[in-house]
Amino acid sequence: MEIAPGVHAVRLLNVYAFLISEPQMTLIDAGLIGSWRRIERYVARLGRSMSELTRIVCTHAHPDHIGGVRELASEREVEVLMHPADLAGLSVTLRNAVANRNRGQLIAYFTRHPGEATPIEDGQLLPILGGLQVVHTPGHTPGSVCLYAPRHRLLFVGDALQVIRGKVTFASSVFSDDIALARATVARMAELNVETIAFSHYPPWRDGANAVLRRLAERGAGMAGRASHATNP
Ligand SMILES: [Zn+2]
Repeated sequence: MEIAPGVHAVRLLNVYAFLISEPQMTLIDAGLIGSWRRIERYVARLGRSMSELTRIVCTHAHPDHIGGVRELASEREVEVLMHPADLAGLSVTLRNAVANRNRGQLIAYFTRHPGEATPIEDGQLLPILGGLQVVHTPGHTPGSVCLYAPRHRLLFVGDALQVIRGKVTFASSVFSDDIALARATVARMAELNVETIAFSHYPPWRDGANAVLRRLAERGAGMAGRASHATNP
């Protein structure tokens, strides 16, 4: 499904990856282990070849987003880009994850390491879609990033936002490392001029995206205010 000129949402098992069909092809995320077949089929349908895949940008290090990275990158010269806060978290032992009773660490333990990765940072402009901006939006995971393409007013949010009962809302409180931070970080998205929100697990959202992000950011700020009142009377 083409969601903007040259930007394709590729449906994998329960998740979308995004293929950017420029002379140097880019993938945003790569699904679970084993997703390469579906990606390869999609690429072939566009009349392109997997040898034209140049890089994979990872929104965050959860297994349904980066599990498929290594099998795509290891056989080719593909650069993998990821925020260092998530890359660091992947080197966890089962013993530590269990001892710390930390769900994020447990997920990390069962996530296939993507191999070598180039760190990306907030504000960086990637040479994709005329300049794809890295927006560090921690909370769902420490290294979660959104990717913003001003040319198309398109914002890839990974799992930093979700859609529940037909409404855009905060990241999952069950699967997020720090839900308070995940809510606060929506303020960063609300600063952008967005026409389309591209989620990893839901179809793209085009209905008043800017206003939706601003309202959600205000709600997040309100919740943070109430929480700090509760702890600091
Ligand atoms: Zn996730």
